[in-house]
Amino acid sequence: MKLQSIRGMNDIVPPHSSRWQQVEKLLADILRSYGYRQIRLPIMENTAVFERSIGDVTDIVQKEMYTFADRNGDSLSLRPEGTAGCVRAVLENGLIQQGLRKLWYIGPMFRHERPQKGRYRQFHQIGVEVFDLAGPDIDAELILMTARMWQALGLTDLRLELNTLGTVANRKAYRSVLFDYFSASKDQLDEDSLNRLERNPMRILDSKNPALRPLIDNAPQLIEHLDNMSREHFERLSSILNTAGIEFQINPLLVRGLDYYSNTVFEWITDSLGAQGTVCAGGRYDGLVETLGGRPTPAIGFAMGLERLIELVQMDRSDDIDDDADIYLVSTDDAYVSEILVLAEQVRRAGPQWRVVCHCGGGSIKSQMKKADRSGAQVALIIGENESQNKAVTIKPLRNQAEQVTVAYDLAIDRARSFLVPGAEREDVTL
Ligand code: ATP
Ligand code: MG
Repeated sequence: MKLQSIRGMNDIVPPHSSRWQQVEKLLADILRSYGYRQIRLPIMENTAVFERSIGDVTDIVQKEMYTFADRNGDSLSLRPEGTAGCVRAVLENGLIQQGLRKLWYIGPMFRHERPQKGRYRQFHQIGVEVFDLAGPDIDAELILMTARMWQALGLTDLRLELNTLGTVANRKAYRSVLFDYFSASKDQLDEDSLNRLERNPMRILDSKNPALRPLIDNAPQLIEHLDNMSREHFERLSSILNTAGIEFQINPLLVRGLDYYSNTVFEWITDSLGAQGTVCAGGRYDGLVETLGGRPTPAIGFAMGLERLIELVQMDRSDDIDDDADIYLVSTDDAYVSEILVLAEQVRRAGPQWRVVCHCGGGSIKSQMKKADRSGAQVALIIGENESQNKAVTIKPLRNQAEQVTVAYDLAIDRARSFLVPGAEREDVTL
């Protein structure tokens, strides 16, 4: 059998991994600047954690979860999303009592979906969860933070869609209205929707079947069934976003048909990625903490799909990073290998931001210089017989016409620094 990766699960290899690191660092810095702290969670949980939170009516739990019995016979699942495990961990560690209310996580998620562009079986999310704040101020700030992220990534074609789901009671009333509406046209519904009609008719609004479009577009809207508090929450959120200059469209079909959702839901969408256009999705889930055994606690969060996000960043930039050095060290003979290894350590100490590659594996000076050139380095540091005897280093610029110089060992690092084109040494954060 030929060994291959599992369908829908991808390796992220260089140079793409550099892009991933840059995007992750940039997003982590922004999260930090808003006061968020990272939480690191296991990639599997007891299946009940997901069944109880995501609910067993959803596609995720019904069809997409990787569930298996471990060697003790316990039912475990690879996490399909981050919220459930995060709430479980927050309760287990008493984080809310400690005042840790703003958390973020990053990592792989697993869903057994049909793999296609932008949809994989292992994919990666950065997610944020905020506890014990009822909004709408924090709702707005979360959206402002995501807008800042797009700006920092140089993404300009994302649009914000917003909706409100009101309270559980609002949705209960709405559900029966919807049930009557769709029941009257049962003959037009597909199998999936008939199924949803019985369990949760709001999820029909989420159907991706184009044949159902006209029926769905004419359905009664939840916004007509909101109570005053929910209406006010939504109006205040909209007004903050307007003041902050964030454009949005209200999409009454944006629903998350779970009982614990309330009020704000939003998605950031692009048209550049085809059908898989949602890059970031979030919402308020005031009922979930209680559902998982905690005291009633308002909460809101979002998750963004990193594959889709990085694909977008990638489309804007072709200058992929495929070199790996700023400074490359070579020796003319095996006898001086220890000298260049030691010098390389000193260079790294002097400039931790530089990528310092010491030639290993021997070879002629000509082939070593070829490698130096291919590494992308701006200068080569050379030690041979002459240099060794005179306690000196030869510095050879690789990217311009400047003459090579031989300087005393002690001066080598400062001199090499002057050869590095300012700003050209790669900082992790720049894109
Ligand atoms: P979709 O409607 O695309 O299936 P979803 O509602 O299932 O999305 P969420 O559970 O809200 O998605 O996840 C948040 C984000 O994670 C999505 O907006 C998307 O960017 C990303 N995402 C979800 N599923 C996948 C997947 N299978 N492959 C890659 N990214 C995904
Ligand atoms: Mg999905």
